[in-house]
Formats: sequence, C-alpha cells, structure tokens
Amino acid sequence: MPRQTPITVLALGGNAILRRNQEGTFEEQYENVRSTATQIATLVNGGFRIVIVHGNGPQIGATVIRHEMGRTKVPPLPLHVCGAETQGFLGYIIQQCLQDELTKRGTSRAVVTVITQVLVEGNDPAFKHPSKPIGPFYTKEQRDALLRERSDLVIEEDSGRGYRRLIASPDPKAVIEDEVIRVLVDNESVVIACGGGGIPVVRQEDLLQGVEAVIDKDLAAERLATSIHAENLIILTDVEGVYINYGKPNQQLLSKINRNKLEGYVKNGYFARGSMAPKVEAAIRFLQNGGKRAVIASLQELGKAIKGSAGTQITN
Ligand code: ADP
Ligand code: MG
Repeated sequence: MPRQTPITVLALGGNAILRRNQEGTFEEQYENVRSTATQIATLVNGGFRIVIVHGNGPQIGATVIRHEMGRTKVPPLPLHVCGAETQGFLGYIIQQCLQDELTKRGTSRAVVTVITQVLVEGNDPAFKHPSKPIGPFYTKEQRDALLRERSDLVIEEDSGRGYRRLIASPDPKAVIEDEVIRVLVDNESVVIACGGGGIPVVRQEDLLQGVEAVIDKDLAAERLATSIHAENLIILTDVEGVYINYGKPNQQLLSKINRNKLEGYVKNGYFARGSMAPKVEAAIRFLQNGGKRAVIASLQELGKAIKGSAGTQITN
C-alpha cells in the first residue's frame, strides 16, 4: 500500500457559501460553492486527503424562519433538526460541485457527506447564558405569545431591531462519527463533516439526544482534526489572517507565530469573541492535542496557505 498523504481538515467560513452582501438564493450559494470547490479540487488533485467542515449561520437562521413562519401549516421542528437539515442541503451542494470539478479533471475520488453529531455537556455553563442570536425578529407581542408556549426559550431585544432568540453555544467535546470519518478518509474519500459545527447532542445514560444549541464550527473542526489525527487544520475566512490591533491604524498581520506567543495575545484580549477568538482557540487546542500546523487564512489564498506562504501559520 502506498504511503498515505497527511490529512488536512479545512474549516470553511461563511463566505465560502454566502457573501456578506448577498440575499441567500440557491443560485448565489451554488455559485459560491462552485468556486470554492474549484480551489479544493486542486488540493485533492495534488494528493491531499481532505476533510471539509463548513459553517451554517445564515442557512440555519433561514431554516428556522421557514419552520416558524410555516407553523400554521406544518409543525415546526426543533433547532437540532434544523441543523441536520442544513448539513444535508449544504453537504449536497458541496458534494455535487466538488464531484463535478474532480470529474472534469479526470480524478476519481468519492465525495461524501456525513451527518455529524457533536457531543456537548448538559451542564456546560453556556446553557445558562445563551449568546448567539438566531432566526426571525419578533415583536413584543409575538415574543410574549411564544414564551407562553415555550417557557424554555430565551428571547431578547437585539440592538433596536426587534426581539430575537438567543441560543447557547456550548464547547464541543467529541465527534460521535469520528471513527467512520477516519475510515472514509483512509479510503481516499473526500469527506464533508461537522457542518455548522455539528448537531449538538448530549448523552443521557446510553442514549444520545439532540439539544437546542449551536456549536462554533472552528472549535468543532478542532475536535474532528484531533480525533482523526490530522496533521493540518486550515481555517479559511474572509480576512488575510490573524491581526493584532485589528481595525486600528496600527493593525499588524501575524504571519508566522508559535503557540505560546499566540496564547499570550489571547490572554491580553486581542481577539474578538465570536469571530476571531474561536479560530485562534481552535488552532491552539489543535497544536496542544498533537496537531502539527494550524493556519488561519483567506479562502482566496488557500493554495498558498497550504504551502505555508500565506495567512497566519501557527506551529508549536
Ligand atoms: P467565519 O464565517 O469565517 O467564521 P467570522 O465573521 O466568524 O467569519 O470571522 C472572521 C472575521 O473576524 C473577519 O471578517 C474579521 O472582521 C473578524 N476579526 C475580528 N478580530 C480579528 C482579528 N484580530 N484579526 C482578523 N480578523 C478579525
Ligand atoms: Mg465564525
């Protein structure tokens, strides 16, 4: 058997599927995924074993709106099921685009999406402090009506625009399907997994149960990369890399940095919660847990980032 190439986990940011100024039509998302797939196909052709993790922020928001607004016609389904729906539809279009691109290049590799559950802890403090706004805006009357029906929901004012549900974002602990993902990767398949950070589940006695939460996709990508013994975790987003003093006149791109130094910046609060901080945290955890290299880079520079000449390259 030929020696196998290193495994690389690619965590795709929201911009790989939907750009900030777009509405969210199927055509827009498909076109963006097609261009992302072209870049990924080049890596697959180059012999990399690739696992793709993607975000689902705008998509799960839209799915929740469809369920909520259709509630007089069909019963709405819980949030974890909405997560599964987005994994399915996004996995489908990524699979199709990547498969087409590989076929065009005469490369025969299977591309497959794994509906992925990610274990969280029921007593994670995040459940007491839901933080991620999601889904439709409600009026005060709609909010009160909804709370009478579902006293477990947290619905708060969102910067003067109306009321919105806040969802807990617990820390991912383990990827339930990690072994089968590793088997598929060993078999040279390109795997799409942990979409949207995975479907959050808790274990109660011996049973898995979906919970109302959303998991950060970068932190979930780290869990997966670590458990399948990937060598590289590449986090792709819409900025060149990690900056210190981001957005200020003295901002500075970190191009090569070691884990300790990066941890120092984290301790001093350099990175924004909810956007850059989880990426940096995922990179640090990956290196702590046996990973060789983490990269945070722009999707546009994927090829250079993987060669080590773009983005923020982080090693131990
Ligand atoms: P993604 O969908 O890729 O996870 P996010 O919006 O969550 O996108 O994170 C990327 C964003 O993080 C960038 O567009 C940038 O505005 C923001 N950001 C915050 N702090 C920093 C920083 N220190 N360096 C670079 N980008 C930062
Ligand atoms: Mg993000």
